[in-house]
Amino acid sequence: MAKIFYNSKIAKAFTFLKDFSTIMLFGAIFTEHASLSQKIKTHEATHVEQYQTCFTTGLAIAIGIMFICFAFNHYGWWMLALLTIPIFLYYVWYGIEFLIRLIAYRNADKAYRRIAFEQEAYSLENEYLKPCPERKLASSFSFLKYYGKKV
Ligand SMILES: [Zn+2]
Repeated sequence: MAKIFYNSKIAKAFTFLKDFSTIMLFGAIFTEHASLSQKIKTHEATHVEQYQTCFTTGLAIAIGIMFICFAFNHYGWWMLALLTIPIFLYYVWYGIEFLIRLIAYRNADKAYRRIAFEQEAYSLENEYLKPCPERKLASSFSFLKYYGKKV
């Protein structure tokens, strides 16, 4: 389970837009509340898994670019900036998908709920109610199957 920060000022700062109070940032969970329901913990744990997948993918891309740069003798400390790819890939993907869906639906709440990352988190958030062996969990690129899913 990921680290959870309760009574978090960071959560307050990041969730001012809507009536949200909990956010997953860089693999950890931040909430304004003093405690969290198992349902919300499960929802956020799905986002943590998605973040880790995007981080690993971004790291592979960054290392690929690094090798290409070395191959062409074009290197320097600026290459550390490549680290922003793994760190922010999830949020860039999330943000672009939100904007595309916002243009398509012209409804912010609908756009938010149809983001594949959110579809997966909402569809798995009640899995904790099932006995362990039957629980479905997010793993690796499992969020991709929500693209093209009829809702
Ligand atoms: Zn969510």
